[in-house]
Amino acid sequence: MVRLNELGEEAECAARLMADAARLARRIQVEAGGVHAKADASPVTLVDFAVQAVVAQRLAVQCPNDPLVAEEDGAALRDPSARALLSRVIGAARVEEPGLDGDSLLDAIDRGRGEPGARFWTLDPIDGTKGLLRGGQYVVALALVVDGRVQVGAIGCPRLSLAANGGGVGGVAVAARGRGSWWMPLEGGELSPLRVASTSDPRAARVAHSVEESHSDRGRLEAVRAALGCQAPPVLMDSQAKHVMVAAGEADLLMRFPRDDYREAIWDQAAGALVIEEAGGRVTDLDGRPLDFSTGRGLIRNVGVVASNSRLHEAVGAALAGIMR
Ligand code: AMP
Ligand code: MG
Repeated sequence: MVRLNELGEEAECAARLMADAARLARRIQVEAGGVHAKADASPVTLVDFAVQAVVAQRLAVQCPNDPLVAEEDGAALRDPSARALLSRVIGAARVEEPGLDGDSLLDAIDRGRGEPGARFWTLDPIDGTKGLLRGGQYVVALALVVDGRVQVGAIGCPRLSLAANGGGVGGVAVAARGRGSWWMPLEGGELSPLRVASTSDPRAARVAHSVEESHSDRGRLEAVRAALGCQAPPVLMDSQAKHVMVAAGEADLLMRFPRDDYREAIWDQAAGALVIEEAGGRVTDLDGRPLDFSTGRGLIRNVGVVASNSRLHEAVGAALAGIMR
């Protein structure tokens, strides 16, 4: 039996933070309505802000020297028009961190503006906000990046149920480089290892893909599935819950085909990539290059994502090469 503390101090810290964050999100997810559109038109809710405030506040205490690079910032909440939302965020965050008040909460959220330098944490307080609002999957994701490589990844999954976990709902997928990838049930209990599936016949591949057509091109997904001869329909799921499905062997492949010049945000991929790799899988961009986490808040040197159980990676690469991108 493996204990959380055997994965190292930082992985233990990340897993505990994501377990608490997933529980917080699950408790307040019903209050998420009243969406606030950001400048890029993507939604942000009370839950995103409350989770970022709590995680940032705790990281500031536990790892005071490490910068945090997170998706949200406090600017919209500082606007006088957001008064009512701000007071709801404070109420939600205080249940976890009673010391937070208006000013310290906004400061905590703004800690997420840290520099992605030689060593930093990256946080997506709610990955899959659209999934949360739709009743689908969403996760809370945290990763430690050192010299452009992910060393620790933890994904809190409030609504995910893995077959191997006996039907329990909710858990944290946690990986530490060289120490494997693990599932920790939210209701407590032992860590169980995450292992990718051994599917090697592309026709049998179960392919995970975004629900949102605007996040990844479904047409290109269908072209690759046709080239591979995939028989099962794709598994459409929001957030890095998809990465956990691949790591757990419940899906074999995951692909992301960006529209226009979109580049993936590091917090949407870092934790998920390590969770898959440490479970025996492979993660690259659409050109077969490793994801380069040394280029700031976006993966500007990579286009798209392919994650697999390893065995199917070459077949996908060949299928992609034969299809116009
Ligand atoms: P998914 O649930 O896999 O579709 O991914 C959700 C994430 O996609 C969100 O957390 C966003 O950061 C990210 N996202 C937002 N807009 C786009 C876009 N235009 N293309 C790709 N990803 C996006
Ligand atoms: Mg996200």
